[in-house]
Amino acid sequence: MKLVFLGAPGAGKGTQAAEMAKRFDLEHASTGDIFRRAVAGGSELGATVKSYLDGGRLVPDELTARVVGRMVLEEEPDFILDGFPRTLPQARLLEEMLNARGEELDGVIYFELGHEDAMVRLTGRVVCGGCGRNYHVKFMPPAEEGVCDRCGDELIVRSDSSREVVERRLREYEEKTEPLVGYYTRAGLLKTVDATRSPAEVSGATEELIKSLMNDE
Ligand code: AMP
Repeated sequence: MKLVFLGAPGAGKGTQAAEMAKRFDLEHASTGDIFRRAVAGGSELGATVKSYLDGGRLVPDELTARVVGRMVLEEEPDFILDGFPRTLPQARLLEEMLNARGEELDGVIYFELGHEDAMVRLTGRVVCGGCGRNYHVKFMPPAEEGVCDRCGDELIVRSDSSREVVERRLREYEEKTEPLVGYYTRAGLLKTVDATRSPAEVSGATEELIKSLMNDE
């Protein structure tokens, strides 16, 4: 099963991708996590992408697609791509990379959320400095403030969570990523989930969609 999770920053697609990957035994491939880990680990890739992440700007398409090709498509037969593609050129590159291997996407799940809702959600995000797990101070707090439930490490405010950076990320999303909704609708691949609902309701709806895609296979 090869899936793309699409949606505005803050729509909860990362949380859903992690949960569904576990539930259906798929690889959870988040380009945001790959880039953040590269920055934290001080690799060459990290040095290249740091300024983009800190500024809330998209990493160039070519580089992003190369990273996905090498770290995901070549390694994993079944996956959820979380945060990729984010532009039309990336979507075309993904299609080319899959086609070259005689493969194709099974579906694109679109987590639909308006601009204002996204703004509220994004300005309270914290991330574990150790394992990379995401939390929200209001909507998904850890059991103990400032401490990761999973590994006990310290939680830090994401460098891309200031109001100014969030505004820029949402603008980037609206200009560059939202056109993918039409693109994947025309390809007959898009399934929409209302992301304004509670995480449990969104999980339920997402699970049903993935099951129906599996039945279609
Ligand atoms: P995320 O955690 O998915 O919100 O991603 C965090 C940051 O990583 C984004 O604001 C971008 O700077 C970068 N990034 C993640 N995925 C992509 C992508 N597909 N294309 C370009 N930049 C990306």
